[in-house]
Amino acid sequence: MRIPIIAGNWKLYKTVAEGRELVTGLLAGLGAVTDREVVVCPPYTALFPLGELLANTPIALGAQEVFSETQGAFTGAVAPQMLRDVGCTYVIVGHSERRQFFGDTDATVNRKLHAALAGGLRPIMCVGESKPQRDSGQAEPIVTAQVRGGLVNVSAEQLLNVVIAYEPIWAIGTGDTATAADAQAMHAAIRATLVELYGDEAAQTVRIQYGGSVKPDNVDELMSQPDIDGALVGGASLKADSFLRIIHFQ
Ligand code: PEP
Repeated sequence: MRIPIIAGNWKLYKTVAEGRELVTGLLAGLGAVTDREVVVCPPYTALFPLGELLANTPIALGAQEVFSETQGAFTGAVAPQMLRDVGCTYVIVGHSERRQFFGDTDATVNRKLHAALAGGLRPIMCVGESKPQRDSGQAEPIVTAQVRGGLVNVSAEQLLNVVIAYEPIWAIGTGDTATAADAQAMHAAIRATLVELYGDEAAQTVRIQYGGSVKPDNVDELMSQPDIDGALVGGASLKADSFLRIIHFQ
């Protein structure tokens, strides 16, 4: 059985004080959550203090990005073991905003994913198509190619620690969510690709999150789909009440 994973991607929002306030609100309203995993991914500057606040709580800490090298002359970069050092369990790799604004490609995503795994982090690897790609009927081959590209030389054993997030680019931050049926169809295609790469048993263990304008009013339907195993949430993760409602999906 796959345990659903709900992760909040705070993007370029929240000071340390604002992050503390949000996390305090989440912890207060969380209750007992044993049948789902919860992750928050604050900006780098808030990781250390929030890692301290989240220690021994049911909320795991994740980072939004990682570099593929462990040390060296790479100004501005942060290495996997540094993220572990401040309490991270997860790290997002290949978010479409990193692909769009910071030059990530399937090859660099693959290097970062390997570095994350080697450094003891669980990568959340994002894939997703643009609007023109969807409109031209290319969504599925493009997304499954991103899955294959990101997972080059990842073993079946390593795959157990990988989460995939299907995030159609046109749905991110737009309020324009994929229908539950369209999202399920893409998740099934991703899982079929995993079956081809790793066999059925391994493929069935991988959690595939949906991301793209997930909100309190659409989360239940999305999460009811058989291959949707959680959500990667941007905007609606920035307020405790909306993120708590998403965490407590039915
Ligand atoms: C995201 O940042 O990964 C995301 C899905 O954002 P939003 O929920 O705001 O669409």
